[in-house]
Order: sequence, then structure tokens, then C-alpha cells
Amino acid sequence: MVRDPRYDVLFEPVRIGPVTARNRFYQVPHCNGMGHRRPQAEAASRAVRAEGGWAVICTQECEIHPSGEVTPSIEARLWDDKDIPALALMTEAVHRHGSLAAIELVHNGPSGANRYSREVPLGPSHQPAGRWDPVQARAMDLADIRAYRQWHRDAARRAKTAGFDIVYVYAGHDLSLPMHFLQRRRNDRSDEYGGSLENRARLLREVIEDTKAEVGASCAVAVRIAVDELLGADGIASADEGRDVIEMLAELPDLWDVNVSDWDNDSLTSRFGQEGGQEPFTAFVKQVTSKPVVGVGRFTSPDTMVSQIKRGVLDFIGAARPAIADPFLPKKIEEGRLDDIRECIGCNICVTGDRFAAISRCTQNPTMGEEWRKGWHPEQVPAKTSEESILIAGAGPAGLECALALGQRGYQVHLAEAGTVLGGRVVLESRLPGLAAWIRVRDYRLQQLDKMTNVEIYRDSRLTPEHVLEFGAARVVAATGGTWRRDGVGRANWQAVPGLETSQVYTPDDIMAGAMPRGPVLIYDDDHYYMGGVLAEKLRAGGLEVTLATPAPSASAWCDYTLELAHIQKRLLEAGVTILPNRRLVALHEDRADLACVYTGALSQLACAALVTVTARLPNDDLYRALIAQDEGLKEAGIESVTAIGDALAPSTIAAAVYAGHKYARSLGTEPDGKIAFKREFPG
Ligand code: ADP
Ligand code: SF4
Repeated sequence: MVRDPRYDVLFEPVRIGPVTARNRFYQVPHCNGMGHRRPQAEAASRAVRAEGGWAVICTQECEIHPSGEVTPSIEARLWDDKDIPALALMTEAVHRHGSLAAIELVHNGPSGANRYSREVPLGPSHQPAGRWDPVQARAMDLADIRAYRQWHRDAARRAKTAGFDIVYVYAGHDLSLPMHFLQRRRNDRSDEYGGSLENRARLLREVIEDTKAEVGASCAVAVRIAVDELLGADGIASADEGRDVIEMLAELPDLWDVNVSDWDNDSLTSRFGQEGGQEPFTAFVKQVTSKPVVGVGRFTSPDTMVSQIKRGVLDFIGAARPAIADPFLPKKIEEGRLDDIRECIGCNICVTGDRFAAISRCTQNPTMGEEWRKGWHPEQVPAKTSEESILIAGAGPAGLECALALGQRGYQVHLAEAGTVLGGRVVLESRLPGLAAWIRVRDYRLQQLDKMTNVEIYRDSRLTPEHVLEFGAARVVAATGGTWRRDGVGRANWQAVPGLETSQVYTPDDIMAGAMPRGPVLIYDDDHYYMGGVLAEKLRAGGLEVTLATPAPSASAWCDYTLELAHIQKRLLEAGVTILPNRRLVALHEDRADLACVYTGALSQLACAALVTVTARLPNDDLYRALIAQDEGLKEAGIESVTAIGDALAPSTIAAAVYAGHKYARSLGTEPDGKIAFKREFPG
């Protein structure tokens, strides 16, 4: 296939100071949970994106000194020369694919609590450090500022030695000293680094100049800066100081990488923001500088990308999540294979992996993070090792991905779905408020399956054990999903809650199937992910009086890890949902629920006409259990194995279901039993 000439502009080379990017696709700095602790995984993961056509590949933030670190987050590190070889693995791997390697140098100032190094954090002024840590940063004196500048220079030199082509000065996300000095709220200095914007921007200017002096002859010097913190008068805003500072330093760096801050505004989920949502804040930058500009906006549509370039908004299409979900996005546009693009759904599961200091994972791309340790390539699977055929029951995320990857391996696959519609839970969940983009999980896979002649799909085909035995496939996979519990059992209640056997009790499955309770309604959320919150939005939009009670300290507490916590509280509170934190459901009566304080046990009563229980799910494993109980029957039918995957084994995230489907397909005939299924950087 050939590229549509409309997209030619995306493949123009662009000069960045002394280096040239081969096209306009730019993987901006992003965390991935690998960094200095998993350097081989880091190199392989970044390299796959270079192979996929991204012209610039950046590291995550790279700590330059022990006095500015963010343990337990795993970032890159350049504290001294000993850190160079690990980073050189990444630059060499990226260069092998013809891309430029970029590094984002950072001293986290008061944003880090230095939990590992135990150094006293540094800041423009005395202030609390870290997130909730009972630790303060001390105000830097002029000697500290000189020292910091020298650390940055040293790190820039080491970055060049490690092979980087672009060296960043970072002033983004309320996370680095040049930004902290810029911020009026953090900087109450009365010397030449405080007061006027010119003074507050002095450190940023100096560090850019230092970096240029140190490596500027051969490396481009980029600045990543938040032009709007979305804090109104309390922060940097694109309408005033965000713009002024770019105007002031317009021609100094070789490239501007601009975004909004904090991270939860920058990496907005699709529930709270659309593709290209940062344009109103960042569009001015190209008007005030002649240097190339990169920006982000969860760009997955080539038409939107072209529009950004042609309208003079951006020079480079920056991406973190779209490059995680599809490392080969540029190549697919280049080769005219738009149907093959695996579009990011904007769920931020990738962020959760990083925030737990585990490897980032992705709902859409099960190979994310597995490039080195499992040798999984996002576009290549090993060929089949036998002529076995596989029967899969259930076409949710697990079944679809399993069928797709097995099909790609060349196996004969039969995918039977009980319903008429394919997609399982994502079909229903994508109809909930804000979750429309999640349907991409199904759409991408159906588009691929449509092209395959070795995958047969049967709709309206609820498989029974008898069907399976008759069918005669060598391998059987039960991807039959899960069902929400109705009895209140979850994390806080280990036993069924009294009173829940009545018809006023609904589960998320009921609501998604179209049931509408009578109000006032109590949503009891002991699941803590998105479901309780989105159902509260839905029922409130339906005109009901809604209270969300939860044993957690906030609604959808786990969404802290997807960067959505504040957005969710705001949306629910503004919609008029009452949030009752720290409450456990104790009993339901005809007209009320009894709730207990999770700390004191003190009981309270809440009047309600209906209850929605969002607590836990159980696997739909009847088919699986019935089959494995029939040892002889299986043998007679020539069935070698029966396996439950995804929610049918243990209900979890959509990402886990996709991963389970992929893992099954990859390991069929290739993974000896009992082997640890992945390599470790430092085997103990
Ligand atoms: P997962 O997230 O694990 O993929 P889902 O609940 O999204 O799980 O999807 C499970 C799918 O399996 C649903 O579309 C459901 O209709 C289908 N299903 C359940 N039982 C059977 C069965 N016995 N035969 C065929 N399909 C089934
Ligand atoms: Fe996009 Fe979700 Fe994948 Fe992150 S995990 S890249 S948000 S699809």
C-alpha cells in the first residue's frame, strides 16, 4: 500500500539546531517504570518505537543529582559517569533504527522528597517537599544555584557521551527547579532570582545557556515547559506569564516542547478531554518563535496531525500514549495502513504501571513493557508450531485478542460469541458517560480479524460443554467474562450484606443492560475504579438523586493512579452527587441503608429507594468448569487443553483481559511449563 499524499507533510525532515529529525513524529519524554533500574527493558522498549517510525525518541525524566530524586518512581539517572553505559544501551538501540535520541535532564527540587538519597531537598524558597511527605525543602542560596547549574552541565556532558542527540532543559509539570523558580507561589526570593518574571526566569535562561555552551555544538538543546498550569492566577497561565516567558526566551533553545501542567492535566484521560485538547493553550507558541515546536494531545488521527502542522500549531506531532499503544503508528501512516493503527483509548492504565514502580502496561498494546523481558514485538508473532485448531468461547477483549494473535500466528481459529454483538464488556462500558473511546479495543481487533481467512467468527453462539465436545478443536479457550456481584461482598464486606436479596438492588450489569432504578439511589462502591463514578454520573444525568458511599477516602479512589482522582471528584460534586467516604454498607432495608464508619463502626442511616452495588465480580466459568470435569470426554473428543483466560479466570481490568488473550496466543506451543516466563535484569 502507498501513503496518501495528504500525509506527506508528516514525513518531511525537520532541523532541530545541529541535528535533523527524519520526520515529524516525536515520542516526547514519558515515564515507563523501566529507567535506571531496568535499562535493557528501557532500551528495547524505546528501540521498538524508533523502528516504528518515530523520528525522535526521548527518555523519561533523568535525575541529575541525588538531591533531586523521586523514589519510588523509577526514572533515568545521570548522577555520575557510572550511569552512562545504561543510557548508552538506549541511544545505540534508537540509532540503529535511524532515530534521534533525546534525554530530559531534571532536578526535581521540592517536588522530590529524596526518600532514597536522604539529601535535604532544594527549592527556590523554604517549602514542603514531595507529595504528603513530612519533609521540607530548604531555600537555595547563590552557592546552591551555582552548584545546581554545574550538576546540570555535568549531566549534559554525560548525556552527550552516552550518545544523545537532543538534551532537554525541563520546566514542565511543576517538577523541576527552573519551573519552581518561575512560579510566583513557590518563589518568594528577594535577590536576582525572585520578584519580576525576568528574575524568576533567570535560572531557566542560565541553564539553557549552560547546556548550549556544554553540548550545543553537536546536540540540540530543547526546553520542555508547561505554558499553562490551569491554576488561574495562582499559576503560570498561557494568557500572561506562560506566554511572556516563551517570548522572552523565544530564540534561545533549538526546540520548544510545550504542554499544560500538572501531569493529570497533561495526560488527560479520554473521559475528561479530547484529542488535540491542548491547542487552545499552546497554539500561541509558534507565533512567537522561529524554532520548531512540539506539543501533545493524544493524537491518533493522521488528519488531525496534518491539520496541526498545516494550521501552524505544531511542527512535530508529540506523543507519549499514542506511541505506547502503537509503536508503529508512523510506519502505518507512511505505508497507507490506517486501518492497522491501534489507537490509544485514553484510559491511563499505562500511567498506573509507572506509578506503582512496575513496568508500564497498556490496554491496547499487550506488548508494552514486554519487548525485552518476554521478547514480544508489537507487530510480529512467532509462526504456529502445529496444525492444531483452537475454539474460543467469548468475544470480549480477551477472546478477541486471543483470536487475533493466534490468527496472526497462522492457527485455524474458531471464535464463538453468545451474543450478536462482538466486544463483550467494552461494548457496554463504552456507552457509559465519557468512555466512548474505549470501543477502540474492539474496533481495532475486529478490523484486523476481518482480513483473516483463518479465523471464523460465529455470532449468537452460546457454547455448551456438549457443543465444545462435538466441535472437535484441539484447544479450547474459555473467555467467557465475569458478572458483577449482587450480594455486597467486596473488599470491606467478606460476607453477604443482609437485605440485598430484594428487587431494589441493581448491579452495574443491570444498569448497563438498560435498567433504571427509582431514586433516591445509593451507589455502594467497594470496587474503587471507574465504575462507581461513571454510574453515579449516568444516574444523576437521568435525573435521580444520587449518593455514592464508599469505604475509601474518596470516590473512585484507585483512579488516583490513572491521574483522574481530582477530575472525578469535581465532576461528581458539580453534578450534584453526594459523596460519602469511609462508609461500609452494613444492611439494606426497604427505605434506607445502614452504613458504618470504617474507623469507629458508628452507624448511620441513609434514605434510599434503590441500591447499586459496585463491589466485585465473579468469573463466568460454568463452561470451563464443566469441561475440565470431563477428563474422559475431553480425551475422546481429541481436546488437548481447556484454558480459562481474562475475566473468566479472575475478573480484572480490560488491559489484563487483552494481555491474557495475547499471552495465551503467544505461548501456545512455545512456552515449556514451569519456566519463569520473563527475563529479569538482575536475577537474584
Ligand atoms: P473479557 O474481559 O475476559 O474478555 P467479557 O465479559 O468482556 O470478558 O467478554 C466475555 C464474552 O463472552 C461476552 O461477550 C459474552 O457474551 C461471551 N460469552 C459468555 N459465555 C459464553 C459462552 N458459553 N459461549 C460463547 N460466548 C460466551
Ligand atoms: Fe492509551 Fe490506555 Fe494504552 Fe495508556 S494504557 S497508551 S491511555 S490505551
